[in-house]
Amino acid sequence: MNKPAEFNPQVKLETVPVWINGKALAPSGRSGEVFNPATGQVTKKVVFADSSLVDAAVRAAAAAFPAWRDTPVLRRARVMQKFLELLEKNQKALAATLSEEHGKMLDDAMGSVQRGIEVVEFACGIPHLLKGEYSENVGTQVDTHTLRQPVGVCAGITPFNFPVMVPLWMFPLAIACGNTFILKPSEKVPSASVRMAELFKQAGLPDGVFNVVHGDKAAVDALLLHPQINAVSFVGSTPIAKYIYETAAKAGKRVQALGGAKNHAVVLPDADLEFAADALIGAAYGSAGERCMAISAVVAVGAAGDPLVKLLEKKAKQIKLGVDMGPLVTRQHRDKVASYLDIGVKEGARLVVDARKQQTPQEGFYLGTSLFDHVTPGMEIYKNEIFGPILIVLRASTIDEAISIINKNPYANGTAIFTESGGAARRFENEVQVGMVGINVPIPVPVAFYSFGGWKSSLFGDLHMHGTEAVKFYTRTKVVTTRWPHQDTPAPGFDMPTLS
Ligand code: NAD
Repeated sequence: MNKPAEFNPQVKLETVPVWINGKALAPSGRSGEVFNPATGQVTKKVVFADSSLVDAAVRAAAAAFPAWRDTPVLRRARVMQKFLELLEKNQKALAATLSEEHGKMLDDAMGSVQRGIEVVEFACGIPHLLKGEYSENVGTQVDTHTLRQPVGVCAGITPFNFPVMVPLWMFPLAIACGNTFILKPSEKVPSASVRMAELFKQAGLPDGVFNVVHGDKAAVDALLLHPQINAVSFVGSTPIAKYIYETAAKAGKRVQALGGAKNHAVVLPDADLEFAADALIGAAYGSAGERCMAISAVVAVGAAGDPLVKLLEKKAKQIKLGVDMGPLVTRQHRDKVASYLDIGVKEGARLVVDARKQQTPQEGFYLGTSLFDHVTPGMEIYKNEIFGPILIVLRASTIDEAISIINKNPYANGTAIFTESGGAARRFENEVQVGMVGINVPIPVPVAFYSFGGWKSSLFGDLHMHGTEAVKFYTRTKVVTTRWPHQDTPAPGFDMPTLS
């Protein structure tokens, strides 16, 4: 393992500010350290908001809400279009910033920014998405229509692994719907959110509509308990997702809280194994395994097992650190991931590729690729979300056994099957109890105009992110029943009105 990097207190560090009411603020008080995981150095400080700073952000958002809610939807859409242009112009710079704080390779970072930008593209269609329903003559001379109205001040709390994409799953659609928003990004990767706030202001967004606060549990709790916040979106690990859901729901807020994952890929014996192995290598080790949709468990069925493991071994060993795969986000996380290598060996799994035997850069939080075979569902390396570059292989005799393994797992974010049989794929799609399914597609992240979200312990709440489910989450429906009496309108009755 590489040694801790020295922190040089002589170097004056840049401070990442909060963004409240259209201004960057860096008051004194608690702060956190931001690292460059590729060098292991502290590169910036980040302001940690206390409850009074969070309150200032909420008050700014509450004050901005009435005018923004009443801004014609087409005008709101035009601000989104300008924001879209600015994001596209700044895509490389945003990707570079997130790559520097998170550690993922630049091309991968560019891809993740692109997937976020696509949500803004979808949000530009908000005039169409907010259209209500109308029924004429539901009773004698009575009409009914629906309105979709914004919920008010919304908050979003996001994880470290997608510093641009996951925030973009939330705030553009919330704001396009007429809400105002406070984002609390991960304190490990804070800079890109403030940059997006500056770009949104440049696009014409009024001050106070979008605010960014940073911090840890103290800032999150202040948001969850603030009486002026009406809805909370969260993405992160399962224990925190459950806490967010319970706390915010108890405080009377609408909540969607997306949690962690253990995503399985089933490989049937009839699959093109070379194709499947290539797909699995990218899905398991891309972004150093720090993706909520990473494939972390392969279920090899029957005769697929031995040749597949051979291919995975060869390809996993070819991945170059610092070229194909970046470091992990922090030293603590890297060490925790690495500790699963001993655990897996003790549990009796076969360690086919061992990161500890690979050349690792001296600096930074790097860990090479590892592959375990003959893992069983009772093992800790199967039960836990490792969130790093360790792929495990379980063996199953039949597709039924493979589906049963997946359905018994508490996580249910994404899954995939590799096969050339349409019948087997159709059965898998129908029977597997997971929110997002790929057929010969290893990471089935839905495009922006569909919705993203898992089942079971991967989601607390009902509505998923982006797509039309987000429009439902960020609006409340009102049903209006109308009658305009004139001379032949029947007199109102005393009993429950019916048509008979
Ligand atoms: P995390 O749960 O530690 O942190 C997420 C957010 O919650 C951060 O903003 C953090 O500051 C805050 N937080 C952390 N501890 C808290 C506490 N005790 N009280 C209140 N707030 C707290 O997650 P992470 O390590 O940043 O991200 C990795 C996790 O996110 C993985 O489990 C991954 O699967 C998950 N994730 C899920 C999805 C999804 O779509 N389901 C997407 C991306 C990441």
